[in-house]
Amino acid sequence: MEPSVTEGSAAHGSNIRVAVRVRPVPGDAGIIEVLGQGTIVIRKEGATGGNEYLSSQQGRYEERSFDRVFGPQATQEEVYAWCCQPLVQGAIEEGTNATIFVYGATGAGKTHTMFGERDERQQGLIYRAIHEVFAAIAEREEAARPQVRVSFLELYNEKLYDLLQPTEGGGGYLCSLMEDERRGLLKIGNLSEVAVGSTEETLELLQAGLQLRKVESTAMNQRSSRSHAVFMLQMEGPRRNQNSKICLIDLAGSERASQTQNVGSALRDGAKINQSLLALANCINALGESSRAAERRATANEVSEVVRESRPDARERAKTPQRKPPYRDSKLTLLLKNSLVTGGLVSMIANVHPGKSHFEDSNNTLEYAKRTSSVKGSVVVRTATPMPPTAGRAVLPGSAAEALGAP
Ligand code: ADP
Ligand code: MG
Repeated sequence: MEPSVTEGSAAHGSNIRVAVRVRPVPGDAGIIEVLGQGTIVIRKEGATGGNEYLSSQQGRYEERSFDRVFGPQATQEEVYAWCCQPLVQGAIEEGTNATIFVYGATGAGKTHTMFGERDERQQGLIYRAIHEVFAAIAEREEAARPQVRVSFLELYNEKLYDLLQPTEGGGGYLCSLMEDERRGLLKIGNLSEVAVGSTEETLELLQAGLQLRKVESTAMNQRSSRSHAVFMLQMEGPRRNQNSKICLIDLAGSERASQTQNVGSALRDGAKINQSLLALANCINALGESSRAAERRATANEVSEVVRESRPDARERAKTPQRKPPYRDSKLTLLLKNSLVTGGLVSMIANVHPGKSHFEDSNNTLEYAKRTSSVKGSVVVRTATPMPPTAGRAVLPGSAAEALGAP
């Protein structure tokens, strides 16, 4: 069996794991070289002599390390096994919330990673997670089986649409996002949660939802998706510690709006998407700062009283107030908040295109991934609390469905 979540997260000292995936490009050696399981090199061609390794800041060769790097030959199964399976198992076995997201520019392989193709070997993370959840449930005694409910939503232009509730116009039903003041967590109003009993049933919903997902062409890519798609599996077990949520997110393209040369409403969409991704980056930065602050505090606490008195700066630094992650800056970060603050596990896959003309985007994605992987979890333990008894309800339109994250 794969390492358990506890081992995995402890080994990384973090509740966020980050992988980079380099997509294959036919007939192109590319500017990105995978040196090992966790090391990558990006090279900017044409700068000086055409073959110099560059980092964005220093303009020279640089190796970069991540928790894990998947080269162009990596299979969907391998990516699932490292990026997703331990989190899914944690959700099933221990009631830990899981958030898995794919990040990268349009064309870098996000949707391939998350959804994949019909062919069994090419199935993406969502399909594999669904299979694993129902396989695990089938092994249990009937009385020990959790109720599974599915939600599928799209975040487009800072608005949330329910992909399981079509409107007459053909799009998804507009949902509202509300904060539960008392518990500081989120609710999504009007979001449907469909009770499902099998893999097949779940896949049908997934397909129906995908049909609704908005896709608009831009100069970058004919089918560039500028919305974030969020697929959620909620499990509510007979035992308290079996309540959990698995949230899989196919983020919108991270390229800059200016690069897409789009105009009018398309530009506005681009700007909004960047707002969400920027907010995500800011939250991740703030989390990184607070985990570094926690490390400093731990160090300062080890300093003996005598030394402390002679080194007041250590005490002062340890007391520096932490910058709160600005979750409210976008819908995306509000969505992620629950999982992040309740000690859920987060896995990010940074997809990069190794083509020469993609240097800028790929380099930015690697920077983003690097920052994310510097976030060390200060919250790893989660205590489960019971959820309201909703098992057996089919669809819950109109109700205020609890969004991501327990308790
Ligand atoms: P994104 O969602 O990031 O815009 P896609 O997932 O749509 O990118 O990928 C762009 C193209 O590259 C698609 O045709 C996809 O099938 C292909 N592709 C991406 N990653 C892989 C991969 N690992 N193996 C095979 N094809 C891939
Ligand atoms: Mg896509």
